Amino acid sequence: MERISALELLSKFDPELIDLTQKETERQRTTINLIASENCVSPLVACLEGSIWANKNSEGYPGRRYVAGCELADKVENLAIDRLKELFQCEHANVQSMSATVGNVAILNAVLKPGDTILSMELSHGGHLSHGAPFHYSGKMFNVVHYGVARETEKIDLGQVRKLAQQHQPKMIICGTSSYPRLIDFAAFGEIAKSVGALLFVDLAHNIGLVAAGVIPSPVPYADIVSSSTHKTFRGPRGGGIILCRQELAGKIDRAVFPGLQGASKLDMIAARAVLFKECMTAEYKRYGKQVLVNAKALADGCLNQGMRLVAGGTDTHLVVVDVTKLVPSGKEAEAVLESVGIIANKNPIPFDALPPNTCSGVRMGSPFLTTRGMKEKEMYLIGTLVGKALHNYQDSPALAEIREQLLGLAVRYPLFAAEWLPQKA
Ligand SMILES: *Cc1c(COP(=O)(O)O)cnc(C)c1O
Repeated sequence: MERISALELLSKFDPELIDLTQKETERQRTTINLIASENCVSPLVACLEGSIWANKNSEGYPGRRYVAGCELADKVENLAIDRLKELFQCEHANVQSMSATVGNVAILNAVLKPGDTILSMELSHGGHLSHGAPFHYSGKMFNVVHYGVARETEKIDLGQVRKLAQQHQPKMIICGTSSYPRLIDFAAFGEIAKSVGALLFVDLAHNIGLVAAGVIPSPVPYADIVSSSTHKTFRGPRGGGIILCRQELAGKIDRAVFPGLQGASKLDMIAARAVLFKECMTAEYKRYGKQVLVNAKALADGCLNQGMRLVAGGTDTHLVVVDVTKLVPSGKEAEAVLESVGIIANKNPIPFDALPPNTCSGVRMGSPFLTTRGMKEKEMYLIGTLVGKALHNYQDSPALAEIREQLLGLAVRYPLFAAEWLPQKA
């Protein structure tokens, strides 16, 4: 009730902000969102994000706080930690970092010294900026060597990983990607890391929801440290990272997050994630994970049907990267054409891209958001086909207008969060 009356007051006091919020709600409902790193939280998560917990300072860790009145805060943070440990069968979990990128910096600081060597995936082949990009803290502080995908298969070249590991003797090997559509062989990475005495750090930001749902393999048995965001396939609140690690690294990791990098954490976000972790243990969530995979494949098939080339030959996950240069001049052009018909996706470099990063040759598309809305393979295949048709007809305004109408009709039939994913046993 309090929230409803606050909303009424807000609409009188700040009509500008309410107007923008309503328009954004409309935008999300009327467009086909294929951004692979976006999702829509459940009403349970939304209820706790921005809740009363946001008022509480809980600097420190459960049982070791720097402020009083934390008895309940301790219980909330411990709930989040215990559920995460159960969900991923890991020894230790930290839930305080303010973003996955900050969490990654904490991990590097925890176990490396400045100048140490890291072996990680090339950004343009699907890696992440926090894995040693020259413009990021990680690239400035550490000596970074990159592996990538093989030119012919566009899949991770494990032979190259092994060779570079032997040659450079890194202290840490990083795997985990932002735009790589295939599964990563964590066991092989673990074996290579062990053979050169390196730590294996897996950044699971994109795929973690699929691991939580049990539909793709977990890196936990092979990795020393695993990090993730919670707002991508996981379907939790945006902002905030999690770190999982072996018990012997727990103290170092915790100290590197707080006080090494951050002050007080954000308890409302921790509470919102605690309920997410409980959702992840339900049959509905497992079904959601399966549907995300099936939907990504259907989307890929639709694209293939229109003569588009799939990077790495297809997908094992929630995302597809297509080379669009047979149909339009660049990924940048494709992104704009797609937005004009109501499809939201992002341009993305492809491995060994002939075009510069700001135009690039690819588009990345993912299924998590539309799956949350309740779309199934039939709709995803149709959407893949319409992506192709829009690109084929990129200079034909009447054809594009027709596609826009068809997609609008599809989008408005679905809620943002389909009731079928809500926990049924409450
Ligand atoms: C998205 C992503 C991150 C960053 O997550 P933020 O919460 O936005 O900081 C880190 N690593 C990988 C591989 C990602 O895809």
